[in-house]
Amino acid sequence: MRNLTRFSEEANDSQICGTCTSCCRWDGEVRFSPDELETLADYLKMDVRDCAEKFFELSDDRRNLRLRMGQGDPCPFISEKGCTIYEARPVQCRNFPYVWVREEAKLMEECELFKAILKRNNLTLQDLQNEKD
Ligand code: SF4
Ligand code: SF4
Repeated sequence: MRNLTRFSEEANDSQICGTCTSCCRWDGEVRFSPDELETLADYLKMDVRDCAEKFFELSDDRRNLRLRMGQGDPCPFISEKGCTIYEARPVQCRNFPYVWVREEAKLMEECELFKAILKRNNLTLQDLQNEKD
């Protein structure tokens, strides 16, 4: 998987996303560290244990917490207006699509921010795919 963190985030990156919430609806895991769980519980004004039990399960490697959701389900915190826990979202979401890039072709189709990152760095999808993992 490729990592785009060598490209700095720009001030208007969140504006590029606009009302798109596509990445919150893709298959995959949304992982939270213990600190991020505490931040979320605070944000939701919940007891940490209650928050963990209500929203989380252990990841397959049993090392992390991930949001509980059925296969094909969107993130439970997405709404028509966007992320309902935006201020308390985990670093995985804050870093998207800079870290652990995969499915570049899908990103190219669906992610305006990914395309903007490539464009401002004069990269094509092929350049990125030619890089070694
Ligand atoms: S926590 Fe928020 S930003 Fe992250 S996937 Fe869920 S809705 Fe999207
Ligand atoms: S990161 Fe990409 S897919 Fe996610 S909301 Fe922004 S533009 Fe949409």
